[in-house]
Amino acid sequence: MANHLLSKSTFIRGKQCEKSLYLNKKRPFLRDKMSPLQLAKFKRGTNVGILAQELFPNGLDCQPKSPSQFPKKLIETREALLNPLVNVIYEGVFQHDDVLIIIDILVRDGENWKAYEVKSSLSVSTTFLQDAALQYHIISGNGVHLTDFSLIFMNRDYIRGETLDLHQLFVTQSVLKEVKIAVLDTVSAIQKFKAVLTLEKSPAIAIGPQCQSPYPCDFVGHCWKNVPENSYLYMESLEEQIRFEYHAQGVVSPQELPQNIFKTDAQKIQLEAFTTNTVALNKALAKKQVPHQMQLDEAIIIKLLIHQPAVPLMANTKAYDALPIAMYTKTLQSEETVFFEQSTEGLKRFLTLIMVLLSNRTLAITDDDTFILMCLQTAHRVNNTSEFTFFSTPPSLIGLRQLTQSIDFSLPTKSGDFFLSGLLTAFGKNTFKLKEEVYLVNDFLADENENKSMHLAAELSQYAKATAFCFDKLSEMTHK
Ligand code: SF4
Repeated sequence: MANHLLSKSTFIRGKQCEKSLYLNKKRPFLRDKMSPLQLAKFKRGTNVGILAQELFPNGLDCQPKSPSQFPKKLIETREALLNPLVNVIYEGVFQHDDVLIIIDILVRDGENWKAYEVKSSLSVSTTFLQDAALQYHIISGNGVHLTDFSLIFMNRDYIRGETLDLHQLFVTQSVLKEVKIAVLDTVSAIQKFKAVLTLEKSPAIAIGPQCQSPYPCDFVGHCWKNVPENSYLYMESLEEQIRFEYHAQGVVSPQELPQNIFKTDAQKIQLEAFTTNTVALNKALAKKQVPHQMQLDEAIIIKLLIHQPAVPLMANTKAYDALPIAMYTKTLQSEETVFFEQSTEGLKRFLTLIMVLLSNRTLAITDDDTFILMCLQTAHRVNNTSEFTFFSTPPSLIGLRQLTQSIDFSLPTKSGDFFLSGLLTAFGKNTFKLKEEVYLVNDFLADENENKSMHLAAELSQYAKATAFCFDKLSEMTHK
């Protein structure tokens, strides 16, 4: 009986947008490609799930390797539940009401069971509760009495010692009360979603805030195809709700919007950018903050590549602490790429190097200064050095992302996820071959290729050149 209409992920999809649920089932070829960031999150979730199993060791793994194994694994799970020798089940498969779910961990509680769902996040969200309520309903529908239902997620306060303490790394929180309240709603949602899947045509749902929340929908490419790149729907300085209200009223261009909704300088500058189809900025603020070309010529350009492992790798680090992987630096006279081991020593080296770079220079520029600040924070904790002398950006360091925000810089079109690439396009020079950082990190950490350091150095130098180009352009716009 493994023919199911819904799963945990399609149920959550339906909760976000019924059109997405329908398209996913009936027109999957319209789906956008998964972004590198989503792929990385997916992989991270799987790794954390496997680690959390160690909280309840010696379980029986019922995980299906592919959908074709669902019928077999449904039977295996049922048999495991009845087997008095089995006390823990990983990835148990259940089906009820045409919904198939896989629960991360089940632990025997006398005649009954306790369920655990693992999340690689740092807190509990509404979506997690909806997800838990669905699983509770489906498992209960199989006649299994759950005495508790808990979410296991990452403990943001845990600082790792020499060894990893899983009981500290994870927080286990019972959500049974919330889940029981949500079950009625879950049952009616299932019926509604099943009806949606029988429709001949996709439900007539207009684009709206649901396209990005709680997750970026992968049908945006399809549903938003007629929205021009310079639509006011992409004006992030305006409240999202206001943008969609005017869209629902049939307002097409930014010029048709009432001018009195543009109140702040940032909003007026964004309107100017979108209506003139050129980049725009706050000249008064820019004059104070954007360096002159002469200063830029003397500056050091820094590109730092970091990663943020969900599970702390070394003593004194926390979940998602930033660790440096490689740093490329360039001045008029020289260029260099330094690689850092993922260890206390590596962080010490980073700390010494960056402190020297920042204190010996009047100006250092980078694409996003939060990367440097986050690594400094980790390095200080790991090396147990006295509190960092600056908690905010050091005066000699300017991040391109932060600078553009502080001078109300606006692109004439949607910004997109890849900030630097959007900026280069707007400046008419997207000839740099920038590979997204998630790919760079994954390739470097996974690849055994001997030349991987050389490849990464080349990629980082592209980033640094692109950053320097954007600084030059901003300087030209400001001081010409
Ligand atoms: S893009 Fe928006 S309207 Fe289209 S399916 Fe996704 S959430 Fe629904």
